[in-house]
Amino acid sequence: MHLWRGSTTLQIKMSKAKLTFAGGAGTVTGANFLLDNGDFKFLVDCGLEQGEKFCKDCNYDPFIYDPASVDVLIVTHSHSDHIGRIPKLVKEGFKGVIYSTPSTRDISEVMFADSVKIIGQEAKKEDVEPLYDDEDVAKTMSLWKTVKYHENTDIGGGFSLNFKDAGHILGSAIAEVTHKDKKIVFTGDLGNTPAPILRDTEKVEGADYMVMESVYGDRNHEDKEERRAHLKQAILDIKKRGGVLMIPAFSIQRTQLLLYEINNFVEEGEIDEIPVYLDSPLAIKVTNLYQKYPENFNESVKKEISEGDNIFEFPKLSFTPRVEESKSIAKSDSPKIVIAGSGMSMGGRILHHEKKYLEDKNNILLIVGYQAAGTLGRRIQDGAKEIEIMEQNVFVRAEVRSIHGFSAHKDSENLLSFVEDSSDTLRKVFVCMGEPKSSSFLAQRIRDFLDVESYVPEKGESIEIEI
Ligand SMILES: [Zn+2]
Repeated sequence: MHLWRGSTTLQIKMSKAKLTFAGGAGTVTGANFLLDNGDFKFLVDCGLEQGEKFCKDCNYDPFIYDPASVDVLIVTHSHSDHIGRIPKLVKEGFKGVIYSTPSTRDISEVMFADSVKIIGQEAKKEDVEPLYDDEDVAKTMSLWKTVKYHENTDIGGGFSLNFKDAGHILGSAIAEVTHKDKKIVFTGDLGNTPAPILRDTEKVEGADYMVMESVYGDRNHEDKEERRAHLKQAILDIKKRGGVLMIPAFSIQRTQLLLYEINNFVEEGEIDEIPVYLDSPLAIKVTNLYQKYPENFNESVKKEISEGDNIFEFPKLSFTPRVEESKSIAKSDSPKIVIAGSGMSMGGRILHHEKKYLEDKNNILLIVGYQAAGTLGRRIQDGAKEIEIMEQNVFVRAEVRSIHGFSAHKDSENLLSFVEDSSDTLRKVFVCMGEPKSSSFLAQRIRDFLDVESYVPEKGESIEIEI
């Protein structure tokens, strides 16, 4: 397939590099990939492995490489499973440069401030040292350099970095790393394009190697029109019943997407005005950061903004960052909508609302995101009739509905199309960041449909590539 390469070896000398899948292999979370060519080492992402607890025991394990020996860290986006162990990397000796887009840097800073609190609380409960503290976060931020999309940057060791828009969350990037004539692509997470706020995922062509995500490697999503219709119906129903619509939501992208959709319903007269409370200090901070980077939005949203619409603001929307404001929601009249974290009901203010409102059959709990096994959100979604919240028994009489189409990830079909754009040049695709079943399924489809070699690496495995 690549005979011409062999015949021109005199022009470009091949060198070997070792690609190590230190995390994010055989599992969705904990992304952490190391490329080492003997003279220069760089990492892509350094995330937490997530599960029932914010910090699983494995996050405490030492890194399988010496953090002090790594020259550069490239960050694709600001979700915890891509950034959550960076302060630990710094604490354990990393002194190199951290590269990301400007908005990823800003959201990461807000995320670290929040996770330091949660990590501290968990460590106290378990009577262990926290994974990292404020001081480690401050040191981390001092190493950070920002690079805009499409701004080719020399990162040392003969490698250059180019960020393309991944369309997954604000600031999310695909990292194209070039060395001589070879292009290695780290996809990070790829967005469910077209998305209502963000730009589409950019095409990547001419890749030689790809380290790609596969969260939905074996599934396709429900129609985008359907998810909008389900959300609207839930609002209309709650209005008719005079109840409370609770929506547990993740702080980055999901919350902003909900606000944007509700803003559209109100503006287009599809629903009457209804009080909406955004009851999450973290989601409020992230929403403010979204407003700081309108250049990262797609053209139609940019046009709406230029015509004077604030896409995250409509009548009767209240942000309630302070505790007293949050408490006062309970005293306000129904019908109303409460959007609060955490997204899987594993902490945060949503618990206070669920404790108060789940017992009333007039209310609706609307689940708009993936609920991991073992979480309270998953138990409620699976139909539990009696649960415990903050040491109190709660009977679930409210209606529980789920909308699956709000995913921020590409589905199987679109992941395959993404790879197809580079299928002429690809030597190998490493299918990562997915459950084993999902990764193997996608790897098989890449081989069968595109005739491209693909491989599902195991956590800790190292593979030699030619660069
Ligand atoms: Zn992500």
